[in-house]
Amino acid sequence: MKYCYECGNKLINKELENEGIIPYCEKCGEYRFPIFSTAVSMIVENADKTKILLIQQYGKKNNVLVAGYINKGENAEAAVIREVMEETGLKVKTMYFNKSEYFKNTNTLMLNYSCTVEDESLDHLNTVEVDKAEWFTHEQAVDNIKKNSLAERFLLNYLNNL
Ligand SMILES: [Zn+2]
Repeated sequence: MKYCYECGNKLINKELENEGIIPYCEKCGEYRFPIFSTAVSMIVENADKTKILLIQQYGKKNNVLVAGYINKGENAEAAVIREVMEETGLKVKTMYFNKSEYFKNTNTLMLNYSCTVEDESLDHLNTVEVDKAEWFTHEQAVDNIKKNSLAERFLLNYLNNL
C-alpha cells in the first residue's frame, strides 16, 4: 500500500511497537495495515466421510464448495457453521482447518475447512443462493469440481492428506 485509503496522502514507513515497520499516514496520524476480505470455504462431508457436497450457484454450471464471507467481529468457525446452515440447511457437527489461499480477483483470503454435517438431507437447501446441491463420492467430487479453481486445489489438498 503506497497511499492512504482515507485521504490519499503518500504513506511513510514508521515503526510501530511490537509490529515492526508499518505504512503510516502523517496527515491522518494512523497506521495503515493492508485491507482485504476474509472468507471461509467448506468441504462438506456426510457423517461417515464417504461423500462430499458440491453446489452450483448463480446460474453457473460449475460445481464448487460452499463458501461465504466472514462478518466483521465474527470468528472463522462461526462463519463455517452459519454459511453451511444458510446455504444448505445442514448442521455442522465437526470441522477441521484444511488450507488457506489468497484469491487475488476478489482481494480475499480464503480459509478452507473440512466439516461433517449431521444428516444428508437437501430438503432445506437455500434455493435463492444455491441452484443445485449434490453428494459425490471422493472420486466423483474430484472429477466434477470446477477445474483449475481454488475449490479444486482445496479439495485435492484435503484428499491427498487423508
Ligand atoms: Zn490519511
